[in-house]
Amino acid sequence: MTKMKAAIFNDVKKLDVEEIEKPEIRPNEVLVQLKACALCTWEQRVYTGVNKVQFPFIGGHEESGIIVKAGSEVNPDLWKTGDRVVVGLMTSCGDCENCRVGHEGSCTNFSYENRVGGLNVRGMGGLAEYLAVPVSKLFPVAEGLSFEEASLTEPLSCVVHSIDTADVQLGDNVVVIGTGIMGAFHALLARQQGARVIIDEPDEKRRVFMKTLGFKEAIDPMNEDPVQRVKQLTDNKGADVVFDTVAVSKIAEQAVQMAAIRGKVMLYSSYHPDTPISISPNTLHRSMTKLMGSANSDSIDFFKAMKLLNNGTIDAKPFIAGTTSLENIDKGMQKALNPESYRVIVQMNR
Ligand SMILES: [Zn+2]
Ligand SMILES: [Zn+2]
Repeated sequence: MTKMKAAIFNDVKKLDVEEIEKPEIRPNEVLVQLKACALCTWEQRVYTGVNKVQFPFIGGHEESGIIVKAGSEVNPDLWKTGDRVVVGLMTSCGDCENCRVGHEGSCTNFSYENRVGGLNVRGMGGLAEYLAVPVSKLFPVAEGLSFEEASLTEPLSCVVHSIDTADVQLGDNVVVIGTGIMGAFHALLARQQGARVIIDEPDEKRRVFMKTLGFKEAIDPMNEDPVQRVKQLTDNKGADVVFDTVAVSKIAEQAVQMAAIRGKVMLYSSYHPDTPISISPNTLHRSMTKLMGSANSDSIDFFKAMKLLNNGTIDAKPFIAGTTSLENIDKGMQKALNPESYRVIVQMNR
């Protein structure tokens, strides 16, 4: 049996590089030699114990690589050895009703702990050297795009899903609360849709960074009331769309209060802890507020995100905080846990 290296979560704060069996492909699969995998907040929370999984667990769901072998049933006009690819939606089953109607991100058999990629360890598998991937989970990477940039397709696809769900319109007043990587992607995509974007971010460094990306209207919620400020900036109307990308549930109350009549409020973040919030039902009723949530992404969002990166409409480079080798993943995780880091990317097979 051929072996390969993988980073395995063996316990809280115990992430080890081990040798596991290299996957074998089935006729409709390709073997992808992974080159890059970004350390998402989700994996960071597995590391710190906030996200509970059964150990041993193999994380990584923001990965890119190169096809090194194609199964006998793979159409060579579509995919062949040497193609550079992003691997996505590995844990969606493809068979349930949600998957079949194109909502793979809402797969009813979805679990981060499914066994995928031909691996003999549970988990999404991106933090390994190889994965066996069904062709339906492949997305093409353009020549000019680095594997590191391509690995950010998954987070961008989740934001595409959110922006499309909120249906941002030309000229909308949009507020983005929080400018971690997900908030920053929301700001970029909302601007692409023709919206005016106002940032609400307590961290000065992040506000300065967003300014370098051209976002000049920024609220510091530590020094001014963000709800009042949004009203001031919008002729007392409030925001047409508010994206809340912050994990503190209390902030979601402000998101609702900022919305204009017939405004939309998107709860994008996952909330830790999941403390209930208080919202006036009459405010929603009278203002006709649309309160919605968005999580994960579908194939269509992956294709859109892939195109945005491939054609350079969105530049992912400013969001790469650093790289590390698979062998040094623990160091990379420490860096990723620093709230000042955007994405730290693990490189393999280099
Ligand atoms: Zn992710
Ligand atoms: Zn499914």
